[in-house]
Amino acid sequence: MKELFLLKYGEVALKGLNRSTFESRLMSALRHRLRTVGDFRISSAQSTVYVEPVDEYQDNERAFEICSRLFGIASLSRAVMCEKDPEAIANLAVEYALPILQSYPSFKVEAKRSDKRFPMTSPELCAYVGGRLLSADPHLRVNVREPGITLYVEVRDFGAYIHAGRFEGAGGLPPGCGGRAALLLSGGIDSPVAGYMMAKRGLSLTCVHFASPPYTSEQAEEKVCELAAILADYADIDMLVVPFTEQQLAIRDLCPEDMATLIFRRMMMRTAERLVQSRGCKALITGESLGQVASQTLDGLCVSDSVCRMPVFRPLIGMDKTEITAIARKIGTFETSILPYEDCCTVFTPKHPRTRPDEEYARESEANLPVEELVEKAVREAYHVRLSRKYLV
Ligand code: ATP
Ligand code: MG
Repeated sequence: MKELFLLKYGEVALKGLNRSTFESRLMSALRHRLRTVGDFRISSAQSTVYVEPVDEYQDNERAFEICSRLFGIASLSRAVMCEKDPEAIANLAVEYALPILQSYPSFKVEAKRSDKRFPMTSPELCAYVGGRLLSADPHLRVNVREPGITLYVEVRDFGAYIHAGRFEGAGGLPPGCGGRAALLLSGGIDSPVAGYMMAKRGLSLTCVHFASPPYTSEQAEEKVCELAAILADYADIDMLVVPFTEQQLAIRDLCPEDMATLIFRRMMMRTAERLVQSRGCKALITGESLGQVASQTLDGLCVSDSVCRMPVFRPLIGMDKTEITAIARKIGTFETSILPYEDCCTVFTPKHPRTRPDEEYARESEANLPVEELVEKAVREAYHVRLSRKYLV
């Protein structure tokens, strides 16, 4: 009795003419992700994707986790399959579902036939399978109004499928169908959540991390790579690290202290934009939330936006830390984010940052800074990090 997964499309099913593009994105993203776990037969029909392990030596738990993190899927279930024959269906229901039903106070069977040539109607099939389960264990109780558990029988094109419930899928749109954007990824709680939220709308992510060795450690960089690897379950990920020590020291030495954070942010935005525009990115993404810290006031955000042309997506702008943390826990980044390694922002944070800056003061503050030269140097020295298996948790 081999278990397989049934995945149901979400918004993809509504996409009209673009539907085939969305579907093929979804299928290739699924193939790519499952390749790291084992050999699976993957096919799709009638708004459902079928994922079937080819042999028994796969990590099915990990495979199911990958499927449940795939954007574009509304719901999924673990199922077993047999030929479209009432006798075979009832036998399989007893073998597979009896142990599951026995731990609930009551059950009901719900049947659906998309193959109308099947010899029983749906109510007949429900009654037949329910009857066979009851004769296998007379202690079972049926409750059609409020069942403890529902057993689903679906008679479809290629066979009959039995499963005991649906799990909620990740929702959203399939990976990559919305283009590519650059995620400014620090080691904190917020930016991985921001990346997750934009990936949910179909964006591929090029993560850009600014590191300031030796002020920031190697472990801090590893932690960011690990966060990117967790995000790889949700999005097509690429990762770049930008050495930024010289730029930070120049800001510290040549700019007023109260503007250091904001100028650092402007330099990050300029550098990220320059770095990723030749890599197909059309927007920047940050984990900023209005009022969270001094540089994230409305005036602060205006001053950092004004240096780049690309749109800046800030999906967390209206959320508070509790809401952001809840998502970080759900998507599996929280535990890594709270590891205690210094981020380059925290090393150079001024004691009294300006909360109501304006563009004119920002420009004045940068007057002695060789902006172009520093941005070009950072772009030149940026390097690509291969997210190896070590990080792919
Ligand atoms: P996070 O927002 O990830 O929890 P944080 O709150 O410490 O970290 P801030 O210093 O407030 O982040 O920065 C706001 C945003 O700027 C981050 O969400 C991230 O998008 C970006 N950012 C900050 N530091 C870095 C960095 N070292 N490399 C890349 N992006 C960064
Ligand atoms: Mg933050």
